[in-house]
Amino acid sequence: MSLTSSDADAPPEMDDELRMRIADQLAGRFKGDIIGPDHPGYEAARQVWNAMIDRRPGLILRCTSTADVVAAVNVARGCGLYPSLRCGGHNVAGKAMSDGGLTLDLSGLREVTVDAANKLVSVGGGGRLGDVDAAVAGHGLIVPAGIMSETGVAGLSLGGGIGWFSRKHGLTCDQFVSLEMVLASGEVIEVTADEHPDLMWALKGGGGNFGVVTRFTFRAQEFGPMMRIGVSLYDVGDAAEALREYAAIVPTLPRTVGWHAALKHDMPALPFVPPELVGARMLMLVAMWLDDAEAPDGVELIDRLSAIGQPKVTATTVLPFAAGVQKLIDKEFEDGHRYYTKEAHVAQLADEAIDKLVDFWSDMPMEGEVEIIGLGGAIGDVPEDATAFSNRGYLLWLNFAMRWDDPACDADYMGRTRAIVRDLEPWVGRGVYVNMLNFDEMDRVVEGLGGPEKYAKLGRVKAQYDPGNLFRANYNIVPAPAG
Ligand SMILES: Cc1cc2nc3c(=O)[nH]c(=O)nc-3n(C[C@H](O)[C@H](O)[C@H](O)COP(=O)(O)OP(=O)(O)OC[C@H]3O[C@@H](n4cnc5c(N)ncnc54)[C@H](O)[C@@H]3O)c2cc1C
Repeated sequence: MSLTSSDADAPPEMDDELRMRIADQLAGRFKGDIIGPDHPGYEAARQVWNAMIDRRPGLILRCTSTADVVAAVNVARGCGLYPSLRCGGHNVAGKAMSDGGLTLDLSGLREVTVDAANKLVSVGGGGRLGDVDAAVAGHGLIVPAGIMSETGVAGLSLGGGIGWFSRKHGLTCDQFVSLEMVLASGEVIEVTADEHPDLMWALKGGGGNFGVVTRFTFRAQEFGPMMRIGVSLYDVGDAAEALREYAAIVPTLPRTVGWHAALKHDMPALPFVPPELVGARMLMLVAMWLDDAEAPDGVELIDRLSAIGQPKVTATTVLPFAAGVQKLIDKEFEDGHRYYTKEAHVAQLADEAIDKLVDFWSDMPMEGEVEIIGLGGAIGDVPEDATAFSNRGYLLWLNFAMRWDDPACDADYMGRTRAIVRDLEPWVGRGVYVNMLNFDEMDRVVEGLGGPEKYAKLGRVKAQYDPGNLFRANYNIVPAPAG
C-alpha cells in the first residue's frame, strides 16, 4: 500500500478483526495498555483538552517505553494505519486523537531526569510542562516553555514553544540538545545538530511529522526558584488607556522582563484578586522579572510596570515559579470545556486596533480571554532560516482563547471570534503560529510552517525520514517527490 495524502488509499476500517490482529502482533512486544472501545478506560483515554473534539479512535495504544513505541509504529505501518500521536492533548484542533483509526498515547513516558552539573534535562515523549518544572525547580533551573503546566512538552516544543521565558532564552525548541526518535521504519535514532542536522532543523518548528519523539534532552537555564511578578487589574473603562501604554512600553523593555495582557471575561479567584472583583470583566497585566527576584532593578521595573494607567488593584509579589506562577492559569484552561482559539502575530497595536479589541471584549458573551503577549528578545536572536520555526521578529502575539460549555452556542461564538479577527486584519502581521492552527484553518498549514520555501525544504526532510507519510495525522508536511 502506498501511503500518500490522497483519499484514494484510505486506511482500513478498524473493526474487531483488525483489533485482534493488532493485539496478536503486539503480543510479547508491547507492555502498555491496549485500549479499544470496550476497555473501561476508553472514554477517559479519548478525551483531549478541547471538548469540541469528539473523536473515537478505533484503538489507543498507551506506550510505556521506546520499545513499546517501536512495536506500535511497526504495527501501524504494517496495517496501513496512520497513527495520531497524543502527548498533553492540548492541540486545539484535536490532532492528538484519531477518528476511527489508531492513536499512540505517549502518556506512559513522562519520566524527567536532571543532570544538574551539565544543565541537561531529559523528558519522556509524553511529558507535560509541569513534570519538567517540578523536576528542575530544586536545582535552580528552568527549561523555557509555555505558560501553564498541563501542556505537553512534545506538541509545544516541536511546534516552537513560546512562554514566560522566551524573551530571555528563546523558544523551547531552541533548547533542544538531542532527541530520541522512532522513525516510520521502526528504527530508533538519536537526533543532534551533528548527527542529523537537517532533521534537527525540521524538528524545531515542523511538529510531529518526522517520527515519534520518545525522549527530549534540553539545555536548562539557571533560574529561581522564586519569581517576582507584578499584577494590575483594570476596569473596562480604563482598559484602552492601559493597553496604549502597554503597547508603547513593550518595545523598550529589557529581555529580563516578560509582560502579558489578558482581557478577561471574568476574573478568577487568584491570590491577589479581592473577593469583590472575582467574576468581574477586567484587563489583567502580568509583568514577570526573569532574573534574580530581589535584584533592585527588577523590583523597580516590576513596580513601575504594574502602576501604568489607572489600575483598580495592583500587587507585586514573589512566588515559586514551578509551584506558583506556572500553575496560575491552569484552572482557567482546564480540560473538558468547549474552546475556540484564534492566533495572530501583531504587526502594530495601533490605537484603532486597541479600540476594536476593547469593544469586542467589553460585551463578548463567551468566557475566556483575549491575550496580547509580549514576545521579542531572544526569540529573534536565531536567524529565520536556522530553524523551521518562522516569524521570529514579531513583538506581540494576539490570542483569542474563548471558552463555553453549551454546544448550542458554538456557531454564534465561533462566528463572533472569526469576525473580530477579520476586523483586525489591517493590524495583523503575516504568518501564524503553527501550534495554534485550528480545525477551520487547515488551508493555512503552509503559512504556519513558514511559507512555500520552508515548506518545500520540510517536504525534502520528510521524504528522507517518512517517505510514505505514515505520520500524517498532524499539520501535515507532504513528502517532496523524489528527484
Ligand atoms: C491551555 C493551552 C495553553 C497553551 N499554552 C501554550 C504556550 O504557553 N506556549 C505555546 O507555545 N503553546 C501553547 N499552547 C499551544 C500548544 O503548544 C499546542 O496546543 C501543542 O500542540 C500542545 O502540545 P501537546 O503535546 O499538549 O498536544 P497533543 O494534542 O498531545 O499533540 C499535538 C501534536 O503534537 C505531536 N506530538 C505529540 N506527541 C508527540 C511525540 N512524542 N513525538 C512527535 N510528535 C508528537 C503530534 O503531531 C500531535 O498531533 C497551549 C495550548 C493550550 C490548549
